[in-house]
Amino acid sequence: MSAPATLYIVPTPIGNLEDITARALRILETVDWIAAEDTRHTHRLLQHVGIKTRTLSLHEHNEEKRAAMLCRRLLDGESVALVSDAGTPLISDPGFLLVRHCTDQNIPVVPLPGPCAAITALSGSGLPTDRFIFEGFLPVKKQAKETLLKLLKERNATTVFYEAPRRVLDTLAEIQKILGDDRRIVLAKELTKAFEAYVGGSASELISWLEAEPARQKGEFVLMVSPAPVKETEIPAPALALLEELAEVLPLKKAAAIVAGHYKLKKNALYQAGLSFGQQSDKE
Ligand code: SAM
Repeated sequence: MSAPATLYIVPTPIGNLEDITARALRILETVDWIAAEDTRHTHRLLQHVGIKTRTLSLHEHNEEKRAAMLCRRLLDGESVALVSDAGTPLISDPGFLLVRHCTDQNIPVVPLPGPCAAITALSGSGLPTDRFIFEGFLPVKKQAKETLLKLLKERNATTVFYEAPRRVLDTLAEIQKILGDDRRIVLAKELTKAFEAYVGGSASELISWLEAEPARQKGEFVLMVSPAPVKETEIPAPALALLEELAEVLPLKKAAAIVAGHYKLKKNALYQAGLSFGQQSDKE
């Protein structure tokens, strides 16, 4: 039996057609099949770049069946590129079942790096990027949405959401109700397109901005919420971990000063926290 062919995961532009990589074009041109979320949509891209590879559909309603069929073709030696309508497949897009089937059957899966709205939005947002959580689309049901947003009250990381234009105002109102107006929110709109915009402010300020001109409520949005403010008494886990490591080789005072400088925290709070390390290990 011949070796299985490769499944390539190929990101496509989220607006600006120049954002397709040279490698993505080569793979799309040379594979036996392109599995596309919407074949008509993908044909427009392929036509633009002059690629004539055969396509077949793989979307949320046929993924189970198509995954089994594509695995058989891959096992027979026919290579496949998976694309979605825009951005990176599997990121709030179909493809998970196909990749799972392939990995279960030892079919090689090669993902290509490329456009993704969440990462593009985050990198230009001015919000902390050292820790972030991608939540995809918020639940539509009010109760589930509320439960999820409540998790952000204490979350020590930037949260990234995708949001439909018809829901963005409601979502901001819900954020305002649950988190108040102290958290900085950034809306990244129409990324890589002609009317790309980043707008940052409190939930109320963003609601006013969107309401000022109804046209502002149209287009594609990524919504990002800044981390919960660090309470004076609260030391982030990575800072504590570093303190613990340094305290093993340095006097606690010195270790606390280094960590305080690095994380912009109070030296004394770290020193006090450091004192408990010894006590904990004494008890163990
Ligand atoms: N797989 C895609 C990716 O890698 O970003 C995401 C697909 S998801 C079905 C579509 C959502 O992504 C949109 O509703 C919007 O929230 C976000 N999005 C996609 N393109 C965007 C763009 N150019 N500007 C802002 N948000 C975008």
